[in-house]
Amino acid sequence: LDMPEVHGDSKASEPKVSEGLIQEGTANAVMLMLARNSELEGAVSSVKQLEEKFNRRYRYPWVFLNEEPFTDEFRQQVAAVTSSNVSFGLIPHEDWFQPDWIDEEKAKAGRDVLVKQNIIYGDSVSYRNMCRFQSRAFYKQELVLPYRWYWRVEPHVAFHCDMDFDPFAYLHNNKKVYGFNLAVYEWMETIPSLWATVKEFVRLHPQYIAPNNSMEFISDDDGSKYNGCHYWSNMEIADMEFWRGAAYTAYVNYLEGTGGFYYERWGDAPVHTMGVSLFLPKDKIHFFDQIGYTHEPHSHCPQDLDFRAEHCRCQPGRSIDWLDYSCYPKWFYMQRR
Ligand code: GDP
Ligand code: MN
Repeated sequence: LDMPEVHGDSKASEPKVSEGLIQEGTANAVMLMLARNSELEGAVSSVKQLEEKFNRRYRYPWVFLNEEPFTDEFRQQVAAVTSSNVSFGLIPHEDWFQPDWIDEEKAKAGRDVLVKQNIIYGDSVSYRNMCRFQSRAFYKQELVLPYRWYWRVEPHVAFHCDMDFDPFAYLHNNKKVYGFNLAVYEWMETIPSLWATVKEFVRLHPQYIAPNNSMEFISDDDGSKYNGCHYWSNMEIADMEFWRGAAYTAYVNYLEGTGGFYYERWGDAPVHTMGVSLFLPKDKIHFFDQIGYTHEPHSHCPQDLDFRAEHCRCQPGRSIDWLDYSCYPKWFYMQRR
């Protein structure tokens, strides 16, 4: 029996668009921000913009996460700029902090290597905590578990377009899993052994590799070397059923076991990207052209001329899409093959 899927409760009495499809504003989705109390101003700024440009029409709830309790000031000021439900979660210790079984001497040596190479956040343990959390734990948080879809938002980002569409409903109705709008190259110094580790995982678990995957996006030599391309995870809209599923779970457990999040500085962006690229068919990945966005130093301004003229205030000349340091061209040509 093929039952239509119904998510959300706000428009329950209205007829569904058609079987299996959901209406805009009814996705089981959450606006999700990891932030520090010190980032209050940037958090308010990001929420305010997304509310004005998107969420005031759809009223998706916000969830804020932090490894320290949010201050009353943070809670009040953030809640003041949205009319949606807002909740604040405390991340369990084990999901955030460096585990005891990590060899701190080895981790320190790994940090020193990056410091000598002047790599950003080379010395930072908290950055590694954050990347590991965003790689393997955000989608299991108590406040996040009830939801299927999320939009990751960071403090101090900018949104440039008025959105009269619901990206969650779009992904759902088009059977997509992962949405992005910027793709760039990774600092390879931060992930010296990540690709070898992923290849070993694949050798042990070949059953997880999807037909028609995106190997072409992440490797220029059919998997021998990683080319550094990754979806920029500070803005992603995706289906957490994928992160919670067997393939991705086995994969991040395997990565975690090597200690690479601390011995090196594995970013959640390459970790997400490799998972999405290997365990999903490429047609499950969507480029959200219409989400104009800046997270310094990169910007995406929509390519769609009519949409841009009508809905956006951004400079196409600043848009990274077709510039040398963008991986979007690789994605574009891959999708057309
Ligand atoms: P970048 O974008 O890679 O330069 O890293 P960010 O500093 O923007 O951090 C990425 C996200 O994690 C942002 O949403 C930050 O607010 C959040 N974040 C980073 N470090 C911490 C931390 O130590 N604690 C908390 N609670 N959030 C953090
Ligand atoms: Mn950031």
